[in-house]
Amino acid sequence: MSYIEPIAKSSTSNWPGSLLNIFLDAVFPPKCLVCNRLFKPATKRFGNEQRPNGAIEITDPFAESYRLLTFFCCSDCINAFVAISSPMCTCCGIPFKSQQDQDHLCGDCISRPKKFRLARAAMPYDQQLMAVIHRFKYAAKTQLARPLGGLMLSVFLRQWEGEKVDLILPVPLHRQKIRSRGFNQSYLLIHGWKAVAKAMHISLSDIPIHTDVLTRSKATVAQTGLGRRQRLKNVKGVFSLRFPEKIYGKTVLLVDDVYTTGATVNECARILLKFGAVRVDVLTMARAI
Ligand SMILES: [Zn+2]
Ligand SMILES: [Zn+2]
Repeated sequence: MSYIEPIAKSSTSNWPGSLLNIFLDAVFPPKCLVCNRLFKPATKRFGNEQRPNGAIEITDPFAESYRLLTFFCCSDCINAFVAISSPMCTCCGIPFKSQQDQDHLCGDCISRPKKFRLARAAMPYDQQLMAVIHRFKYAAKTQLARPLGGLMLSVFLRQWEGEKVDLILPVPLHRQKIRSRGFNQSYLLIHGWKAVAKAMHISLSDIPIHTDVLTRSKATVAQTGLGRRQRLKNVKGVFSLRFPEKIYGKTVLLVDDVYTTGATVNECARILLKFGAVRVDVLTMARAI
């Protein structure tokens, strides 16, 4: 199944880069959402190169999604981002140090098989990305959702192109957490995919996002700082499922912001498979290494 088709070049006025925004940027230079310094955003419209015969050529979606960042972050910060690439574990997606290696199962996935089929992430969870995600989640810099979501979209297009994904489920937060933070970061990361794809001159076919199927019925302590065993214990029995008919016989893509030990997404996958999902895959923004 193909999720992308090129569309004719059209106005992307809902994106930075429109005339009004270029004018506003000149009068009020934006601050980099990562380091907070003033910077000069890119003025060149992003998009795929137009060939002389008028056909649109789809260039590398990852490069395109990188270009989206130039409207929000300074070039120093963007250059510090690194993408995850092969060789990596075929299941959990952890990249291997040796560049000579082929993709294969890592020791952890051999000794502790995962419930999900595979997990992929856009970037390693290094200090730089941690700072960005913290600004996004805890300083409510929700403008970051689209450029970060764009990086995830490019991984999705690369990894799942030609595959069937029936629905997307963001990993849920407990309602207390939603109330205090005001948003579910996992949902925000993907909910702008259509607009991001449009800015990349790609028409993305509709994949339903369900936020009412998986619920977090117990508030848990933050996983940060917990060991692997504690994390497993912390998420056990935390999630429950409503409307099992929505996932029965379906291929599901779980979306989260950070993959640390995989305990959270593995627990979600366990429940989804128990209630009849045929396959669960995972996509995250960041991957702890
Ligand atoms: Zn910066
Ligand atoms: Zn693995």
